Amino acid sequence: MSVEYDFSSDESILITESNEIKRRILYRLEDEGILVYDTNARVSDEPILPAIKLKSTISPNKKNKKSRGLDYDTHQFQNISQYSPKKNFQQDYTLVIPSDTLRFSSKFESGNLKKAIKLNDNEYRLILEYDTETQGYTQWYYFSVKPYKAPHKVRFYITNLMKFESLYNDGMKPLTFSMKKMLNGHKTWERKCTEVSYYKNQYLRPNENKFFYTLTFAYTFDDPEDTIFFAYSYPYTYSDLLEYVETLQKKHPSILRVNNLCMTLAGNCCPIITITSKINSYTNWDEEMIKLEKSAAGRRIMRIRESRNNETNKTKHQDKKAVFVTARVHPGESNSSFMIKGFIDYLVSDYKDASLLRKKIIFKIIPMLNPDGVIYGNYRCSLLGVDLNRRWNKPHRLMHPTIYYSKKALQILSEENEVLLYCDMHGHSIKKDIFMYGCYNSGKEVLDIKKNVFIRLIPYVLSLKNDNFSFKNSKFRIEKGKISTARVVNFTEFNILSSFTLEASFYGCTNFPKNQDHLLTPQLEKLGRDLCNTLLIFTSPRELKKKLNDLTYKLSGKTSPPKSCTQERFEEEYIGTINDALQNIDGEMIEGFDIEDSDSGGSDFEGSDNDDKKVSFKKKTEKSDTDKKIRLQNTAKSISPIDIVSESLAPSTPKPLRFFRDMAPLKKYRFRDNQSSSAIKDRTKLTDEKPNDITENGIKLKPVLHPSSIMFTREKIPHDSSLINAVKISKKIVKKSQFFEKRNKLQIINTIKNKLNNIF
Ligand SMILES: [Zn+2]
Repeated sequence: MSVEYDFSSDESILITESNEIKRRILYRLEDEGILVYDTNARVSDEPILPAIKLKSTISPNKKNKKSRGLDYDTHQFQNISQYSPKKNFQQDYTLVIPSDTLRFSSKFESGNLKKAIKLNDNEYRLILEYDTETQGYTQWYYFSVKPYKAPHKVRFYITNLMKFESLYNDGMKPLTFSMKKMLNGHKTWERKCTEVSYYKNQYLRPNENKFFYTLTFAYTFDDPEDTIFFAYSYPYTYSDLLEYVETLQKKHPSILRVNNLCMTLAGNCCPIITITSKINSYTNWDEEMIKLEKSAAGRRIMRIRESRNNETNKTKHQDKKAVFVTARVHPGESNSSFMIKGFIDYLVSDYKDASLLRKKIIFKIIPMLNPDGVIYGNYRCSLLGVDLNRRWNKPHRLMHPTIYYSKKALQILSEENEVLLYCDMHGHSIKKDIFMYGCYNSGKEVLDIKKNVFIRLIPYVLSLKNDNFSFKNSKFRIEKGKISTARVVNFTEFNILSSFTLEASFYGCTNFPKNQDHLLTPQLEKLGRDLCNTLLIFTSPRELKKKLNDLTYKLSGKTSPPKSCTQERFEEEYIGTINDALQNIDGEMIEGFDIEDSDSGGSDFEGSDNDDKKVSFKKKTEKSDTDKKIRLQNTAKSISPIDIVSESLAPSTPKPLRFFRDMAPLKKYRFRDNQSSSAIKDRTKLTDEKPNDITENGIKLKPVLHPSSIMFTREKIPHDSSLINAVKISKKIVKKSQFFEKRNKLQIINTIKNKLNNIF
């Protein structure tokens, strides 16, 4: 097939049509350049894939819909295009490109380059895919480039970024990975880009009166045979996770269990890991699945029955405390995967402390709350185009299955064992350091003050163990924009005092030595290990009391440490000053307006709707920030030595240049719930809720073997309000159980009261 290039012609010229492949063949000019890569096209020498039909529902009038709330989600859910468990790529046409052109690809897991436009020999404009079903949230990028000559210095411009501020101007650099080096045994992500800069550009955002931002960087290709990958943060894909949990399960069968919490919208499994000593006598997954489908009242009745029947096994675990950890609700925050990996690796290790923790605590870990988003290369959203970390208050079983079942699993856990910690791991794009967001009690009673001190305990102890963790940058508050996040919902609904968002900067830490600027994966993993190790304070009442006294003394700002902190002494000397100190810190926070927290999101549509306001607000607060710095300088000092790691060994190496559709289907990971089919049968007998709501309300759904029992086929979703009806019905069920929940809540509050009184 011969194709003639016509460089002088206008946009989109049809050159030829081949009956053989039934695809238009195009050479295309775009934005004053030549289009050299488009996800919707195949390049002429790439293999031909069978044609698939994928359509997105994004339309301009959708912008008018409020992006928050169930109505929006329902609309999205009813109209969503078909997504497969693996990422699919259309080949609408064949793209003809000049031979002296860099060759781009993002057709692999988590890849998200949409287009590349050659401006001239040394400059390329790049456009990223928006998060699925949105017109925004671009921040994460992952793509590969194959050079055609060397040495060749090329400048790239990613021109459709949304965030109004970035650490790139402070020194942050994109990650690069050389395939050639990997084949020679040098399996390393590097930061080889130069002349990095970030600025507002002149491209208007669709349907908005706002501009995009550009990230530009230069890279020198030094081998024409190499392929270089570029990424925002160390990639950690869903396949990486499946490999990891499979290994874990094989290696540690006596202390660890991996199960499928539920299926995602695209039909992927969401692994949940349970770690504790003598796991074989712990409630098996079949029972847990039944509980997950029951109302609070139903679970209560079930528990009473259980305790009669099964005394011996239950006692082994009922005195244990519990810890619940999650990550990757925001798919682009891949650095959080390394923290959670460190946490798990430490916990399953042979260390004596790890063994003690397993003996005293039941750990439930969900390492990837948004597998679909990770596979499709999203930065923040699920396939519905919504931020799942704004759906914890009312998660919907069909629309937000991973959140719905995570919340339920945590609720059940908190009913049976005291939850010491809930931690949701994230990455932060605007601030340096690793730090936490915690919650806050607004009351002025002694108990409230004690709670506020206690809330700070884990971050405080962690800062003593880990140099990269900053206690002084950790904030404790509940903003309007955060009331539906995991940390706030789990704090308010389940009374978990230590409920945190853990944030690791995509860049580095303020206390780094001169020869280091970026956080490396071993440091992220160490943070996870240290967080796990921090929980040891809960295994020693003496140590717990001592650390709380230290913290109380620090927060109060007194000059001499108390000899002992008795109840009276605490009330006389500390309450007033601590309250003042806490008030001062929190006074700097304006309700519902958080300038620094990338987790704030603002609107669900684009992460930066309040950009301009935020910028001016930031300027105003800069002065008080300095004051705050001075005031807080002495609140926490790290004591452990810094371990600097010279290079980072990322476990995740790119899966290069293969079409996703060509790869063998992902293995069916059955984990350990092999008997789930019999469990489903049993459930028909055991549950008081209807097991066959599968065909209820006009929604025809196909049952699958997992707790949600449901994988919908989209063509069957009706275009009426039956989903809303389904929601109404589920509300009624909640009412029935409210009495039990209320009673349960009172019990928890009393337990906390007694516990805090005993410790202080
Ligand atoms: Zn996040």
